[in-house]
Amino acid sequence: MRYISTRDNTIQYSASQAIAQGLARDGGLLTPFYIPKLPGKALEDIRDMAYQQRAVYIMKQFLEEFSVKELTDYANAAYGPDKFDSPAVTPVHTVDGNTHCLELWHGPTCAFKDMALQMLPHLLTASLVKTEEEKTVCILVATSGDTGKGALEGFKNVPRTKILVFYPKDGVSEVQQLQMVTQEGSNVGVCAVVGNFDDAQTGVKRLFSDEAIRRELANRGYFFSSANSINWGRVLPQIVYYISAYCDLLRDEKLTPGQAVNICVPTGNFGNILAAYYAREMGLPINQLICASNSNNVLTDFLREGVYDRNRTFYNTMSPSMDILISSNLERLLFALTQDTEEVKGYMRLLNEAGRYQVSEKVKSKLQKLFKGYFCDDRETQRVIRTMFERHGYLIDTHTAVAFSSLEQYRSETGDETPAIVASTASPFKFCTSVLEALGETSVASGLDALDQLTAKTGQPAPAPLAGLRDKRVRFTQVVEKDNMVDAVRSLLE
Ligand SMILES: *Cc1c(COP(=O)(O)O)cnc(C)c1O
Repeated sequence: MRYISTRDNTIQYSASQAIAQGLARDGGLLTPFYIPKLPGKALEDIRDMAYQQRAVYIMKQFLEEFSVKELTDYANAAYGPDKFDSPAVTPVHTVDGNTHCLELWHGPTCAFKDMALQMLPHLLTASLVKTEEEKTVCILVATSGDTGKGALEGFKNVPRTKILVFYPKDGVSEVQQLQMVTQEGSNVGVCAVVGNFDDAQTGVKRLFSDEAIRRELANRGYFFSSANSINWGRVLPQIVYYISAYCDLLRDEKLTPGQAVNICVPTGNFGNILAAYYAREMGLPINQLICASNSNNVLTDFLREGVYDRNRTFYNTMSPSMDILISSNLERLLFALTQDTEEVKGYMRLLNEAGRYQVSEKVKSKLQKLFKGYFCDDRETQRVIRTMFERHGYLIDTHTAVAFSSLEQYRSETGDETPAIVASTASPFKFCTSVLEALGETSVASGLDALDQLTAKTGQPAPAPLAGLRDKRVRFTQVVEKDNMVDAVRSLLE
């Protein structure tokens, strides 16, 4: 399997080169040249396997240079019982006859980012060996909240890696911030940026393309890589759980072989839903992909009108991990739909220069066949949390609520009652203030006491990694202006 940049198909990369490097030198995203098809009976073959084995089977299709033995070791380490509090790893909760919720937050940081970030360090360190890279990798992460903690947990104390996380100072939840600033490990750094997520992400991209700092680092034996979902090693492990969820439903006879499903994903950087699209390309019988956004509805407009326009108001919502106006992974979808790196490069140049581009009629019609976009605001998010709990006794977080709202809108608009799998991306306890308010609490306890309040209200225990934050010491207090992010890099490497 060869990989290319979405902006240039003349240079080919191996999987390990793509993963080690993170981002192509031309700014494009490293992407498989084609998406392999699952063999005919694959779904039946893997139906009775454990999650870890399914992961090996699916990832192997993209990673020829990695042996089954290697991948098995990684999957067992990444998704073992010491990391995930559910033996199913990603349990599927059936809400009603044709609505299934894929819980992706049973890992160490209680958000779906763990699914990829527990795997990425294994793929990345092995890729460094395979590509004979001698320098130490310095991983830079811009986070809207969950990626940062997920990456820190995944990479803490991993030999020959350093990791530095930038989060928007006032753009993450209290629990998220505590999770990050108390991070343990000798190779980690955490820094707040004055600005929003896009500022942090743009700053990281700028560091990547800054030749002077690159040289300075090289002299000291380091090179930059990324753990953001622009790294292929982030997207790949996410394909697994869509296929795995389908297999669970087959095994439990909630679906019949070949039966179509719709998949609904609360979306920010477009990584998670892109993985669902790749699962569909591999042959998973997915009918519609439903892209759910909050008030930062740039993707909803794009999918409806074929115009991507980031020139709009940025909102801080109660689903902060989706407060994003530049969805980086869309670039991979554009490549998949056009198969034309020049066309993609043109769109990305426009996005960079004008903040806006319009896709061709051909791309637009392909997009609209595959995807339906919906969005909802905070009020509706709260209504969905409340209704879901009252009607089904099922507690969901704010991001997942946005997805359920979108599914509801889709169903009432189209009448399509195809079984749906909704990706549930975070534990409700991670956003407990908003969840408590949604459930009608007028006075919400501050800090971690809100966890107990949510338990008292719902009878559900807080996940152990969140309850355990109480005993952790704050280690990181640095705040930088967005133009001074390089200072944080220098202090980490001192
Ligand atoms: C990151 C995140 C999202 C958005 O996922 P993308 O892959 O960026 O589209 C949604 N919900 C939660 C809880 C997240 O952490």
